[in-house]
Amino acid sequence: MQHSTHDSPSLPANMPIAGHIDPVPVPRPGLVDGVTPREDGRVDLIGLPKKQIAALFETAGLDVKAAKLRAKQVYHWLYHRGVTDFEGMTDIAKTMRPWLAERFVIGRPEIVEAQVSTDGTRKWLLRTADNHDFEMVFIPDADRGTLCVSSQVGCTLNCRFCHTGTMRLVRNLTPGEIVGQVMLARDSLNEWPNAAQNPRDGGGLHQPSVLQPEAPAFAGAHLDDEDDDEGAYTADGRLLTNIVMMGMGEPLYNFDNVRDALKLVMDGDGLALSKRRITLSTSGVVPMMARAGEEIGVNLAVSLHAVTKPVRDEIVPINRKYGIEELLQACADYPGASNARRITFEYVMLKDKNDSDDDARELVRLIKQYKLPAKVNLIPFNPWEGAPYECSTPERIKAFAKIVFAAGISAPVRTPRGRDIDAACGQLKTAAEKKSRAELDRLAEEKMAALG
Ligand code: SAH
Ligand code: SF4
Repeated sequence: MQHSTHDSPSLPANMPIAGHIDPVPVPRPGLVDGVTPREDGRVDLIGLPKKQIAALFETAGLDVKAAKLRAKQVYHWLYHRGVTDFEGMTDIAKTMRPWLAERFVIGRPEIVEAQVSTDGTRKWLLRTADNHDFEMVFIPDADRGTLCVSSQVGCTLNCRFCHTGTMRLVRNLTPGEIVGQVMLARDSLNEWPNAAQNPRDGGGLHQPSVLQPEAPAFAGAHLDDEDDDEGAYTADGRLLTNIVMMGMGEPLYNFDNVRDALKLVMDGDGLALSKRRITLSTSGVVPMMARAGEEIGVNLAVSLHAVTKPVRDEIVPINRKYGIEELLQACADYPGASNARRITFEYVMLKDKNDSDDDARELVRLIKQYKLPAKVNLIPFNPWEGAPYECSTPERIKAFAKIVFAAGISAPVRTPRGRDIDAACGQLKTAAEKKSRAELDRLAEEKMAALG
């Protein structure tokens, strides 16, 4: 199809173009700020807040009041009820549904592959509409189920022990692709609120899931990343109870999209997951931490991994830009942190690198110096081919944990999950291409230079 200047989504809807008269002015939904239609001209609604949906409906021809009302209804169906088809929106007039379907779509990331580990962990290889692959992992436990969500395809950073760090950053995921992961997980686990829970809403929208719920056979295997003061809370018997932004990518380098997606997740009329059950993990993008607290307000996890400058510079290179002191000060200032909502420090156990008794004592000293309401998650290093480190021995990890614990700081050792399907922390990397050591080193240099 010819693409005339008049069609350009960057031009305001009513801008006159000299010498050009459009005989049939067709309202184009793509002309709302920040919204790009797909190639077929339709707009994917997933990832958009209610206001933007209303603006689109208005641009498409509804009057202000109708647009607002329809947006409210559609929003509820999309995010709260998880319908994937406008025909399922039973309180919207039958004649209106095709009108919606002509102009809009309800997108989900494409599932390329779904794997299940022997321990019940699931991993999904997902694909964006423009053909980029990324991953999402679900970790079932006895008293909770945690979805590990990606924020980027690849990562700009290059933590030396992390497989994702060996990828280039391909691009940031959009709010739709981020919230879409949670929505896909709810689809797969068949966990959208159904008619039985809210009879006014109609129902029968989903096929029963082909996936069977897990038997709670994973006692003691916790991803201990959120409040542990909720004890046996099981979120009404749901499988998916918690979200961690710990998949591929650095969420604070994709701040706006992560924030916008999590707002939809936290909204009571959206996916309605409490912010207390969401944890954002950062490698230490200090300038964005305060905003994360103010504008998102979820639990914070910080990938500390080392307590001295030389070691952290080596294994978490962003440390060269924002050092340990700055990072810990930002943690002390993190809005919302308290003894009830402690900051989690992630600490990957690397043999003879960061795992000595002295390291443990220094960790305790730093936490006390900054008076941090903290807990420490000790993560046994998950190996991947070509990784330059080994995991500490179980005895070493125990000794390290003991020192931290003796100082009154909770220090659970995270049980590795899904290792057999490469779903464990730091193992996510989708690109099949293999890089040589020289290529990896070159990429590491490039990423380092980009850090400035
Ligand atoms: N980019 C963010 C979130 C994603 S990584 C961050 O770095 O915090 C999630 C966690 O897995 C981080 O703590 C990361 O350091 C850890 N991790 C990365 N590679 C790992 C590996 N090979 N073994 C164990 N943990 C790893
Ligand atoms: Fe990126 Fe996090 Fe991996 Fe570091 S640990 S390379 S920040 S994904």
